[in-house]
Amino acid sequence: MAATIYYDNDADLSLLKDKTIAILGYGSQGHAQAQNLKDSGCNVIIGQRPGGPNYDLAVSHGFSPMPIDEAAEKGDLINILLPDEVQGDLYRDHIRGKLSPGNILMCSHGFNVHFGQVEPPQGVDTLLVAPKGPGHLVRSEYTAGGGVPCLIATGDSASEETKKLGLAYAKGIGGTRGGVIETTFAEETETDLFGEQVVLCGGVSELVKAGFDTLVEAGYQPEMAYFECMHELKLIVDLFYQGGLNYMRYSVSNTAEYGDYTRGPRIVTDETRAEMKRILNEIRTGKFARDWILENRGGAASFKATRRLERQHAIEEVGKRLRSLMSWIDSKEV
Ligand code: NDP
Ligand code: MG
Repeated sequence: MAATIYYDNDADLSLLKDKTIAILGYGSQGHAQAQNLKDSGCNVIIGQRPGGPNYDLAVSHGFSPMPIDEAAEKGDLINILLPDEVQGDLYRDHIRGKLSPGNILMCSHGFNVHFGQVEPPQGVDTLLVAPKGPGHLVRSEYTAGGGVPCLIATGDSASEETKKLGLAYAKGIGGTRGGVIETTFAEETETDLFGEQVVLCGGVSELVKAGFDTLVEAGYQPEMAYFECMHELKLIVDLFYQGGLNYMRYSVSNTAEYGDYTRGPRIVTDETRAEMKRILNEIRTGKFARDWILENRGGAASFKATRRLERQHAIEEVGKRLRSLMSWIDSKEV
């Protein structure tokens, strides 16, 4: 069944005119959504802890940031735009007790609501409006007159009014210019986790490293391996983005296309597909959520150690050197 998609004409911004929108967190999504809403004429307040650059940024954008609990208390719509791994604790300690019936509890990713870490009190509906892009793009597209497409979902037993407010909110951040796809908390959360684990972050990173390692171990120069297995990936992905696999295959040589059809299925095998199903099952049963929540309870020891080891992979060393020689790349170092 094709998805329901809403556009500008399906949303009424005036529904928000007597509402106060509390944006909790002035990070990637927070700074973008808050500014877009303000430019759309909405009443926006910011809950942001002092002492860091994000606090100063909010001030420089004309806001008067206040503590999270104060903003949660003042807001009619309260949008939690804090990192997913701290939301559960901050919600229990600073937000939950400040909500009153009729408030709407919002988020841009369903993880904590779906897996029971953020549970709304009686009379408070949950609402997800999730831009399908990073915050800086949500802001730059809006100022350029466009908008990043969004997802919308309401929690169990939410009213029709909540959905209308969600569409108005999506319009306020520019989302209805790009299209707002109707989904559920479960679908958004599960597909988002699956995509990042299996394809976008986990799958692609391992594929790149494995290709690079294979060439280097066979005696080829690491610089060559870097170009073939990492640098050129962007050129291929840009073609996907513009015209799907068809356009990529139309653009590359016939030799590359033949290699794609005949060798690709030997890399992503039946075994890989079976593992994808197991990973999806771990997401759906909450096993992944539990692992990640417990990891954070333990101070993220294993996460931090893995991050440190991964940063030392040979592809990072050669990549850093080569990128610094390509002046047109806006190269970044972590
Ligand atoms: P960021 O990490 O960019 O921003 C985090 C904000 O939360 C900052 O203002 C930070 O303040 C504050 N914060 C962090 N830790 C604490 C703490 N312990 N106590 C109080 N405040 C804290 O988050 P994102 O914008 O990336 O993510 C927000 C939500 O949006 C998440 O649910 C995410 O899944 C979702 N999302 C993110 C997307 C993205 O591209 N980034 C895309 C779509 C959805 P300080 O500066 O003081 O640390
Ligand atoms: Mg995602």
